[in-house]
Amino acid sequence: MNNPKEVSTLNIDLIENNPYLLLTPGPLSTSKRVKAAMLKDWCTWDDDYNRIVQDIRAKLVQLATKESSLYTSVLMQGSGSFCVESVIGSVIPRDGKILVMANGAYGQRMAQMAKMLNISLIVLDSGEIQPPDLDLLEYTLRKESDITHVAVVHCETTTGMLNPIEAVGYLAKKYNKTYIVDAMSSFGGIPMDIADLQIDFLISSANKCIQGVPGFGFIIAKIDEMKKCAGWARSHSLDLFDQWDKMENYNGKWRFTSPTHVVRAFYEALKELSDEGGVIARYNRYKTSQRALVKGMKVLGFETLLPDALQSPIITSFLYPESEAFQFQTLYEKLKLRGFVIYPGKITNANTFRIGNIGEVEAADMIRLVDAIQQEQFWK
Ligand SMILES: *Cc1c(COP(=O)(O)O)cnc(C)c1O
Repeated sequence: MNNPKEVSTLNIDLIENNPYLLLTPGPLSTSKRVKAAMLKDWCTWDDDYNRIVQDIRAKLVQLATKESSLYTSVLMQGSGSFCVESVIGSVIPRDGKILVMANGAYGQRMAQMAKMLNISLIVLDSGEIQPPDLDLLEYTLRKESDITHVAVVHCETTTGMLNPIEAVGYLAKKYNKTYIVDAMSSFGGIPMDIADLQIDFLISSANKCIQGVPGFGFIIAKIDEMKKCAGWARSHSLDLFDQWDKMENYNGKWRFTSPTHVVRAFYEALKELSDEGGVIARYNRYKTSQRALVKGMKVLGFETLLPDALQSPIITSFLYPESEAFQFQTLYEKLKLRGFVIYPGKITNANTFRIGNIGEVEAADMIRLVDAIQQEQFWK
């Protein structure tokens, strides 16, 4: 099956005529337009390239808030986790303490980063299928006055749960804490204004709802908060302040080699988002696709892990059917042959698999997918 010669052959015709939809939370299916942007080579020090970087930074701030003069953005090499780690490692002073609200793998990952960086840490873990406990958050903030930072994940991609970032932000600010949000799998796909939400540091990446390809992420930050962080970083290459300072003061220059092709593709993806009608139009497309998916899957007898009220329009977890004959891997392989890539589950207490609907995907694709699953119901 895995003939290495076969997978290493790049046949442009075959690629173009065999669309292979990634129904995953990134990397995801990108448009031809985004892929085409990578056909030109760019130099990391070139002025034209640096102008693109500056334009991207300004566009990201505009996407994030109406109060754009109070916020700034910085791009960082690596996958989304590198950006999360650059924030955790750079914005908390030596005597600081972070409270992480966790209800899935990505919240736990933030806690793990803080632990490895020797940062004082409190984790409020509500379990994988419960929303964050806001009463416990307030109780803890009142009791432990040495907490300086509060962090939460917006769309917890582990399950697809959408966390109440506005309510968490309200409490963080009521007790004067710096507020960090991992909005990796929601920024650009769910309308939000980070000034209204009182977010100080928001983290996202190129290959999620903006629909670019993987290779870098970005942080949108309150300028006043960013300026405080000089000299706080616990890592050189992931020093958020230093990266920002260089981009800000040297016209979009990166400190180290940047993923130029990926950045150019991201620029195209931002224009594509605007052409689609902006974040609200994209959000509506995602919602329509997600609803079509769930409706179709329910007809086939599948149940969602989460109730609709907690469900994001980004990715949906489905419980395995009761049948002993069901095997995820078999379904995965069969659907892959039909041009759909689905995603395994990630939670510990239930057997689930996930289907994402972000990327160049629409409701009609979801209907085709459900049709394909119906034809492959080997467990019935
Ligand atoms: C994708 C994602 C990340 C980053 O994961 P990487 O594998 O490092 O790209 C972080 N948080 C959330 C919520 C995500 O969905």
